[in-house]
Amino acid sequence: MSKNKSAAIFILILLIASLSAVAYISYFSSKKYDETKESKHIQNKEAMVHSTTHRALLSIRSIGGGGLPVINVSEYEGENDTVKIQAALNDVPEGGAIVFIPSGVWVAAGLQAKSHTFIVGAEGAIIRRPENVTEPFLTFANISDFAVLNLTFEGENIENAYGIEVIDSRNFTIQNNTFYNHTKSAIKVTLSLNGTSSNFTISNNLFLNCQNVPIFIFGIPSRRAIRNFCILNNTLINGTKNGKIGIAFSANGTIENNKIINCQYGIATRCVSNLTIRKNYVENITDYGIYLGTQVGDPGTDNVKIIENEIRRSRIGICRYYGSYPLVNIQVINNLFVNSSQYDILADFPGTFINNTITDASKLKIENLATLFIGTRTVSGQIILPGDINYDLKINIIDVALVAISFGSSKGNPNWNEAADIIQDGEINIKDISYLAKNFGITS
Ligand code: CA
Repeated sequence: MSKNKSAAIFILILLIASLSAVAYISYFSSKKYDETKESKHIQNKEAMVHSTTHRALLSIRSIGGGGLPVINVSEYEGENDTVKIQAALNDVPEGGAIVFIPSGVWVAAGLQAKSHTFIVGAEGAIIRRPENVTEPFLTFANISDFAVLNLTFEGENIENAYGIEVIDSRNFTIQNNTFYNHTKSAIKVTLSLNGTSSNFTISNNLFLNCQNVPIFIFGIPSRRAIRNFCILNNTLINGTKNGKIGIAFSANGTIENNKIINCQYGIATRCVSNLTIRKNYVENITDYGIYLGTQVGDPGTDNVKIIENEIRRSRIGICRYYGSYPLVNIQVINNLFVNSSQYDILADFPGTFINNTITDASKLKIENLATLFIGTRTVSGQIILPGDINYDLKINIIDVALVAISFGSSKGNPNWNEAADIIQDGEINIKDISYLAKNFGITS
């Protein structure tokens, strides 16, 4: 062994040792790696040491992969890149490994990984979809403890091809990746009929020109078997054909600090429980910034907190959009909805709206009786209090009287009063009285 090589291996051992020392979360604390195997894996790793970026190493460390042996894909032979990368993935021992993908373009898809596999790209590592191949780039099925970090996935706009598919799997991280030109979900987390998926983070990824739900969490109706997840700090740009973050039939999730720009939708939910949608920035959306759908076969949605989001220039800032199943305990607090072309808030679902800011009163439409609005303001600071017909910032007997005067009228009738049509359906009827009864006594 040459002197240079010995020195390089020594540096690598130091690096691995230091990563190991500072790892503060370890999925693998109970599984000590067999050191005799490790010596085989760390041979000829000079290239890896030189090209691995600081960011990549930080990522591995932060999610518990510090100290694992490194398997370098460039050392594997095969007729094409798919065969080479798959051979490396197959070599991951039971105790786990980092599978390192060096810089450059790797034309590969249809890859499958085992439990305890950390796939890490060097700066500039690109996985490009081969022509006429529609399998996902990577599939993780019924496994646990894995990650995909620092890779760029070029989808080549091939139809009906998913990017990364995760089925029935636990404890994983997909972080710091870039997805270009995907026609189907770049990341899809899903289930088999009786499966579960849980405990995962999708963070700091960039989705550019990705369509049909770039981040798609999709369980099974009437079950909440996708649980405990965090979708954080991702950026979606130019998803003009159903581009959005979509969460369905799932529970206990946080969607926070994502940016969704120039897409068809922002954040979409369907039959979810215990979801927090917080501090996301959604801009230039051709349809709905946030929507809350439901579906036949599922009891509906419960416990959703929508807090401190900024929704700019959508068609409708927030609404139900579809389905008629219950939406229970929906709180919409401290959000900014501005410059929607149609409505900032279309309250077609029962929700509690507290301290939200909208463009102006014409951008608020209430269709559901069971809504509560407190502290709604325009961007200029003017208070909007639905049900306050005479604009004295109180909902009281005077408002009831004003609705009573116009009772029974519809748009165009002589005693029609636009302001008295609180539930905006073009008729002043029992719905408007009922809304007042429910909100009687509110002051802004
Ligand atoms: Ca009043």
